[in-house]
Amino acid sequence: MSGMTPEAKANWDRYTAWSEAEKARKAEEARKAPRVLARYLTLVGQSLGREDIAVTITEMGPRDSEQALSTVAACSGCATVETVHWDLYVYGRGDDEPLPIATAAENAERQARRWADEHAPQCREIPVQEVAR
Ligand SMILES: [Zn+2]
Repeated sequence: MSGMTPEAKANWDRYTAWSEAEKARKAEEARKAPRVLARYLTLVGQSLGREDIAVTITEMGPRDSEQALSTVAACSGCATVETVHWDLYVYGRGDDEPLPIATAAENAERQARRWADEHAPQCREIPVQEVAR
């Protein structure tokens, strides 16, 4: 930046550094945020044409994390929540090596989707706050 006083230049540089750090912080936050993978309309949602009455499948954490993480299928019709933990060790697999976390996450997603696919078409419940209205 030409034509700036040294003080303005220093402020500009500070601002730029802060702005870059802020961008990185936000990107990291977004990466760690729960991620919606899919929605399955329930029987009621379908009948009433209400896309908000559905089972939502959400991956709860970043795949590079070391923590035990989960994928959740939550029905907004009947408020049932099915939590599938990412299993790094599968019983009967025959060795002690943990699964890659991405594989564990995909297995959990498959299981959550299976649950949603069974639950959604037969969930007859209307969200409680609407019945009371
Ligand atoms: Zn339900």
